[in-house]
Amino acid sequence: GSTTKLIQRNTSFATVTAEDIKHFKEILGEKNVIEDEDRLSIANVDWMNKYKGSSKLLLQPRSSDEVSRILKYCNSRRLAVVPQGGNTGLVGGSVPVFDEVIINLGSMNTIISFDEVSGILVCEAGCILENLDSFLANKGFIMPLDLGAKGSCQIGGNVSTNAGGLRFIRYGSLHGNILGVEAVLANGTVVDMLSTLCKDNTGYDLKQLFIGSEGSLGIVTKVSILTPPKLSSTNLAFLACNDFISCQKLLLEAKRKLGEVLSAFEFLDNQSMDMVLTHLEGVRNPIPPSVYNFYVLIETTGSDESYDREKLEAFLLSSMEGGLISDGVVAQDINQASSFWRIREGITEAVMKAGAVYKYDLSLPVEKMYQIVEEMRLRLGPAAKVLGYGHLGDANLHLNISTSQYDNNVFAQIEPFVYEWTFSNRGSISAEHGLGLMKANEIHYSKSPETVQLMASIKKLFDSNGILNPYKVLPHSLLPSN
Ligand code: FAD
Repeated sequence: GSTTKLIQRNTSFATVTAEDIKHFKEILGEKNVIEDEDRLSIANVDWMNKYKGSSKLLLQPRSSDEVSRILKYCNSRRLAVVPQGGNTGLVGGSVPVFDEVIINLGSMNTIISFDEVSGILVCEAGCILENLDSFLANKGFIMPLDLGAKGSCQIGGNVSTNAGGLRFIRYGSLHGNILGVEAVLANGTVVDMLSTLCKDNTGYDLKQLFIGSEGSLGIVTKVSILTPPKLSSTNLAFLACNDFISCQKLLLEAKRKLGEVLSAFEFLDNQSMDMVLTHLEGVRNPIPPSVYNFYVLIETTGSDESYDREKLEAFLLSSMEGGLISDGVVAQDINQASSFWRIREGITEAVMKAGAVYKYDLSLPVEKMYQIVEEMRLRLGPAAKVLGYGHLGDANLHLNISTSQYDNNVFAQIEPFVYEWTFSNRGSISAEHGLGLMKANEIHYSKSPETVQLMASIKKLFDSNGILNPYKVLPHSLLPSN
């Protein structure tokens, strides 16, 4: 059940020699050139334990200059590389496919500046998202994005995948929040686009190309990001709905009635709840017994405690009376709120513990979103557990299919059906996780041939030897040097 088997190693790439290692040690020092098998075996495999490479070398640069020197050398030698952040990506983009040199940004984790008036943060790409959020909390600000992997993922990885996450409904995409990046191209050129301006219409906005290009155009080394102020009052409701229509109507009502304070609108189905209750310790359903078909988390964030609370309560009351909500509970303190979030954020972890998982991250019209979950259940029957959850407020479904082990027959039932279905409903086959290795060859389900061709031309312009994250993002036939 994996695409890796179909790919051949590109023979135009060199393999690492003792001479190369000597050179890297001159640039980085002995201890940042890692050949240790234990450390490599961790860096070679992705978070899901699904994609495994066989790299013999991991490099840990400490500055943009070091990244530049590494890439310049790799490019001249035609050594392929894979940029790696926290390695929490879910599409096999962050690990080598064959023997690509792994360049991990984790040692570049300095906060460079923070402007307490504008909220503009400038930092190195290897800063961990949660650390940035804690730094900002002390200054009265927050990161405009939040996701379950926050304790490990790096801002450079977030930018490179254009991560969405739980605050998207309120603060929007990184395409809006990232004000600047510094990136190193394949030939070692350091491109300074590290603007700290909100408005800057001086020609092509090239930094946007690095947001979401999954390390295929360059290595992001620094980031400038606009962070919103931390507001004083947050409320979280955990609600049960009987059917998906009610969830949709509830979303519309929440936008109408909670508009200016709404900060998250997430959903999970009963199967997802079961998965979390079965596989994660210490988690319980806040609205037992678990007989409801859907659960919705609604978070509000505002600046006036009593006003915000009253607003939420009035909304909940009218939704209850209107029959949209069957039951629900509002978190009474921060501990209860985190226990609610644990359910939603824990699904990825729980489903991993259950065995094998086929993960799809789809953008679909809201009214169609759950239909594919039901159709998939009918297709697969009892052979698999089919889960639907995700960022309902952004029309982003996470469709997860859980089986005890990977099975080619199950896989053949899922793909290409899932992509064809998404295409015919004018959706996107990747809402927020990217294409990576998993979906590089499926890009045509979401992009026109002309668009894909233009992407391939841009790739060639930025990386003429194709050394940056090969086999990812674009169809293999279109990659340079193929
Ligand atoms: P990695 O996984 O290391 O890399 C991801 C991609 O970016 C790879 O292609 C890699 O080559 C490239 N890359 C990494 N760093 C750089 C760099 N500095 N320069 C150039 N390229 C680079 N994603 C969401 O969008 N929303 C969610 O809500 C969400 N929730 C998640 C929950 C869990 C529990 C997990 C495990 C993952 C979740 N993800 C989510 C996916 C993942 O966390 C994000 O894609 C995250 O942004 C990846 O960051 P990372 O540092 O781990 O990058």
